Amino acid sequence: MNIQIHKITFYWVNAFIIRTDACTVLWDTGWLPEGETLPAFLEANGFPSDGQLRLPGGSAPLKIDYIVLSHAHYDHCSLAEDWRALCGAPGAKIIAHERGFDYLTTGRKADPFVFNHMAQADASFMAFIRDNAPNPMPACRPDILVGDDGLDMHAMGFPGRLVYTPGHTADAMTLVTDDGSVFSGDTISEMHLLGNLQEKFAPGIFGANWMNIGDDVIRESCRRILELGDRFYLGHGEPRTREELGELMFWN
Ligand SMILES: [Zn+2]
Repeated sequence: MNIQIHKITFYWVNAFIIRTDACTVLWDTGWLPEGETLPAFLEANGFPSDGQLRLPGGSAPLKIDYIVLSHAHYDHCSLAEDWRALCGAPGAKIIAHERGFDYLTTGRKADPFVFNHMAQADASFMAFIRDNAPNPMPACRPDILVGDDGLDMHAMGFPGRLVYTPGHTADAMTLVTDDGSVFSGDTISEMHLLGNLQEKFAPGIFGANWMNIGDDVIRESCRRILELGDRFYLGHGEPRTREELGELMFWN
């Protein structure tokens, strides 16, 4: 099995191009500030700028078959239609969890930003988020909706599957390939690891764990994700091994 993974970091958030012999998946889309365009950003990051999508150093045009969204937060899905436009007709199919459908199709930002009790208790923080997080975000039109049972992608030509892992948001999914590569979105990401460390060493202090919809829910999902493979590609931060993640997640 030949699986190549190419990470693209948009300021603080990761997108991944996952190439296999049969098809190519884009996992998350990244985000750009107002005034920046996806083609210009890619060119500045080593992608050839001849109108065809090609990987840095690659000569063959890259055809993306599926754009898979880990969850409906603006930094992970704002550029879905921009990526699709780059692919040319007939374009890539966008795959999302059904619980994110309303937000993705309207660009409305609502329940995915329901934070847990730590955030709810801090009115000034909630006001900061309300005033500073982009709203609305660019809408997109998902072609394939995934339910809580996940999605086996082998019949679509991709050697992997989507697993429903709620906790960061109610629509959060994890992608796992047959070779043990796990793409965890924000269910496990660098921000959350920092929050967990803070909880471990300075419990009760307001920290990054405000970004989850429920502590028990996300812990259950994190435990499940750690069993899915052995290399972990996070929504934010560098890839990690299971051993590294296990040390950082104190409850394991
Ligand atoms: Zn994120």
